[in-house]
Amino acid sequence: MKPYPIHRVSIVIPVYNEEQSLPELLRRTEAACAQVSQPCEIILVDDGSRDESAEILLEASQREGSPVVAVILNRNYGQHAAIMAGFEQCKGDLVITLDADLQNPPEEIPRLVTLAEQGYDVIGTVRGNRQDSALRRWPSKLINLAVQRSTGVAMTDYGCMLRAYRRSIVDAMLACRERSTFIPILANSFARHTTEVQVMHAEREHGESKYSAMKLINLMFDLVTCMTTTPLRLLSIIGFSMAFLGVLFATLLIVLRLIFGAPWAGHGTFVLFAVLFVFTGGQFIGMGLLGEYLGRMYSDVRARPRFFIEKVVRSQPVSAPQKVDAPAPILNKVAP
Ligand code: UDP
Ligand code: MG
Repeated sequence: MKPYPIHRVSIVIPVYNEEQSLPELLRRTEAACAQVSQPCEIILVDDGSRDESAEILLEASQREGSPVVAVILNRNYGQHAAIMAGFEQCKGDLVITLDADLQNPPEEIPRLVTLAEQGYDVIGTVRGNRQDSALRRWPSKLINLAVQRSTGVAMTDYGCMLRAYRRSIVDAMLACRERSTFIPILANSFARHTTEVQVMHAEREHGESKYSAMKLINLMFDLVTCMTTTPLRLLSIIGFSMAFLGVLFATLLIVLRLIFGAPWAGHGTFVLFAVLFVFTGGQFIGMGLLGEYLGRMYSDVRARPRFFIEKVVRSQPVSAPQKVDAPAPILNKVAP
């Protein structure tokens, strides 16, 4: 892992009806930025707030020499879309995201910058003392486990949005054209060196969570579908298993019927079950096949970059002028 030089840090914060938290958020984030040796820009994205948030942001950005950049969206698009809008506007070599409700302490920013300088391209955080209800904690535990299995990247907490991404990762995420996405997982699919640090998690001081039960369900589906199309394949697997069990059941019935006679088999009633299993299995297989096509179409429609080239190393720059007098050594020539 090579050290990564950082010349500028961007902080991206999505804001939705957070007028009460904003003054303290701005004060604490600016104070944290002062602790960082690089210049910082704070990009606050107003996600169609219905309170005074947008006005507060505009005012903060117009202060003389203010590091604040206000990005105002016309309506509410959701937290992850708002962060993407912030990514589009930021110019830093390192981009840090956090929530506007002060559940993620901005004081952790300098620590994330130091880790990024060491060469990590995605830095996640684990909420040390998560201040949410058990109803929120358990589903999130299950999801973390599933993501860990499917992406192969060991991270324990995908729900905490205090995270740092290297510029190249942000560019790769911006190249994805999908509308529903879950940023921490998308970032991990382009990452090479990741790490996690434990941070404190405060209780929400002002207002309520902006996620209703419906929005949370939607977010969970975004998370699953952004990561994998395996649920579609499950249909085929269920279908094959069901049909196979149906055939086994039918065979067993035939054998037992031959041994114990017609009255034992309920005069054919059980056979109906076996036939039903086979047919239902067949239906699932058909749905699974449709799912396979749909999954491929979904991947194409999302139009994610097919691959992510971190760097290209050549022995000699193509455009370099050729020296006539002293020929440059050909490094990739194989020794005889
Ligand atoms: N947020 C947003 N748009 C939304 C919902 C939330 O920009 O539609 C922002 C919100 O202002 C906050 C962050 O996303 O900065 C996380 O939201 P919240 O604290 O309500 O989520 P929770 O902490 O309950 O998961
Ligand atoms: Mg919150």
